[in-house]
Amino acid sequence: MQNEITHQNKKRSSQHVYDYVIIGAGLSGLIVASALSKETDNIALIEAQDFIGGFNKPVKNSTGTINHGLRYVPDLPSAHRALEFVSSLIGQEISTTSQELPPVTYESGQFKEFVGFGNNSPDFYEELAYFMTSSRLNVNIEPHAWPALLASKYTGDLFNRSYVTKINFTDGRATDVVINGSKNIHGQNFIYCASLKDLAVILPDGVISARAKQKLSKNIYWTGVGLDLVHTHEVTESRAIHILNGTTQDEIGPCAGAFHSPVLLDDGALQTSQWLTYVDEEATEDSEVVAVALKKIKRQIKRAYPSAFENLKSERIAVTPNCAGSVDIKRNANQSLPGAENLWLCSHQLHPQRNLIGAIGQAQLVLAAMGFGSNVEMIDHQVPTAEQESSTHTEA
Ligand SMILES: Cc1cc2nc3c(=O)[nH]c(=O)nc-3n(C[C@H](O)[C@H](O)[C@H](O)COP(=O)(O)OP(=O)(O)OC[C@H]3O[C@@H](n4cnc5c(N)ncnc54)[C@H](O)[C@@H]3O)c2cc1C
Repeated sequence: MQNEITHQNKKRSSQHVYDYVIIGAGLSGLIVASALSKETDNIALIEAQDFIGGFNKPVKNSTGTINHGLRYVPDLPSAHRALEFVSSLIGQEISTTSQELPPVTYESGQFKEFVGFGNNSPDFYEELAYFMTSSRLNVNIEPHAWPALLASKYTGDLFNRSYVTKINFTDGRATDVVINGSKNIHGQNFIYCASLKDLAVILPDGVISARAKQKLSKNIYWTGVGLDLVHTHEVTESRAIHILNGTTQDEIGPCAGAFHSPVLLDDGALQTSQWLTYVDEEATEDSEVVAVALKKIKRQIKRAYPSAFENLKSERIAVTPNCAGSVDIKRNANQSLPGAENLWLCSHQLHPQRNLIGAIGQAQLVLAAMGFGSNVEMIDHQVPTAEQESSTHTEA
């Protein structure tokens, strides 16, 4: 696997104080880590898993290496800025080609341009809205390759299989984090790049109000239910995002998906398609809910493409709890936590664009607030959603 960890740590005493402690080595954590590496190597990057990249990991199937999920990049000014920033960090240009390709849907027996849900928006509308821009960016370096490239520029220490269970505070400042319930890592500044839901557990009482904590843990978070299919023929030439809707009103709403270019083999073609829907995280404790969601995705695909499941080569199911949902936690304009000025919040769930671009954008905001980079003009909470940006971009 490309995102495996090969990093060597320096020898430090158990009392060592890092300049920066970054919690989570997903895309946002790696961006912060590689940007800070330009200034210092006195950084600790702490990751719960034994691989880096978080949601953004490569997946192998019989058509080659693909992204974990669609990894759609909308053609928006914020996406261009974000990709330029990642390029500057990895020292290689992520070049883009813009493609006008409005989303499509299947309705009354035919494919049509998708123009919106009308009065029938699903509860997770905001998660899907990101996929609905009329132009997309095709990139020469796929997102699944970015984590390893960012990690190659990282000069600090990397602690993997290290789950942060607590952040300790003295006199309103974070002093250290506890990993795996036992080891302490001390630091001057802490950048939180993991799930906001977990922050409610990791923060000791009194740092934020009991009400704010409850809001963090009780907020609606979405579980991503993904399905990758490898078809034994080219199902369609369309590369547009498909927003497929059920025929009946039910609790599991529409799914988004797309077909990749086919891979031609001596005995025919293989084509991957990737699909995603969301279900309320709490409901997914019941495995039946996920099974029903998958069944409905398949039914929606089959309705639009009756031959899609003929001699299917493989299918991969990816259930990703807590991968979406927004949280409005009170924070300072510089993205630090009120009452804990040296704890910066860098989760993609805080950014109006909660996908790849949001993960990069939130990292840019935090870095700029800390004096790195030049995006200071965006530190005013006025960052538009993909939908708002798309409409101003089109009108311009
Ligand atoms: C199935 C799926 C499809 C997607 N499709 C798209 C798409 O088409 N386009 C798009 O732009 N975006 C897409 N996204 C979203 C995009 O991948 C994410 O928004 C982005 O990668 C988030 O990056 P992140 O670094 O903020 O968070 P994460 O990737 O969640 O990284 C957080 C990291 O922190 C670690 N961590 C968590 N808790 C702790 C702890 N207590 N201690 C230590 N480490 C911890 C985790 O292990 C993880 O590595 C998709 C996501 C999924 C799941």
